[in-house]
Amino acid sequence: MKKYFLFGNWKMHKTIKETLEYADCLKGYVEYNEKFEIGVFPPFTALESFAKTVRSMPITVGAQNMHYEEKGAFTGEISPLMLKEIGVKYVLIGHSERRHIFKEDNGLINKKVLSAINHELVPVLCIGETLEERKSNKTESVIKEQIEQGLNGVNSNNFIIAYEPVWAIGTGVNATPEQAREVHKFIRELLFHKFGESSNDISILYGGSIKVDNFGSLAEVENIDGGLVGGASLDCSTFIELYEIL
Ligand code: 13P
Repeated sequence: MKKYFLFGNWKMHKTIKETLEYADCLKGYVEYNEKFEIGVFPPFTALESFAKTVRSMPITVGAQNMHYEEKGAFTGEISPLMLKEIGVKYVLIGHSERRHIFKEDNGLINKKVLSAINHELVPVLCIGETLEERKSNKTESVIKEQIEQGLNGVNSNNFIIAYEPVWAIGTGVNATPEQAREVHKFIRELLFHKFGESSNDISILYGGSIKVDNFGSLAEVENIDGGLVGGASLDCSTFIELYEIL
């Protein structure tokens, strides 16, 4: 069964104290629903406290990144085993900021996707074109490459795709429902080509300047199965409002 998700990617925001206040604010607002899920992706330092606090709540927890190895001499990195140990379920892989600021390429991203699946974490593979690529009509070729290379060797459909056009991230300029519709349809076709019927269960989220006043028109688009929210997820009541819209 395909699920609909509202995910909050906090990026490099919130101390443990702020995280616990946020978890407290979510209490009582979210009820278990087998079709709709709400998840939060705090920074590494706050992950464990958040995971512990929401353990008895219908809220899932994700990490913003991971290394593909279980352990080793990789200063500054976090492994899939470390994430599993503290109750993390999802992990963002290949977020635009990882690709562009930290120079992660599709090859590295693919290793991380495979490792997450092997460790029974659900990877959220993030993809999206830059403004320059969109202007030069390369959106489809970029998306195709990111999907094909990112999912190389993947045999399971237990992953999520997040389409986040780079030009829409943190800019206040979201993709219009029509722009998102085209790309999400294209992604659905690529997934069908690779995974056949089982691809219908794969959720494709939209991300990029989601706000309370634009989310409704995006969430109703075919093949948009939820949202990956940055800035607007930092305020707990706004995040709850977005969940109600979904
Ligand atoms: P904004 O919602 O702040 O544009 O960020 C989107 C994003 O990068 C979520 O992963």
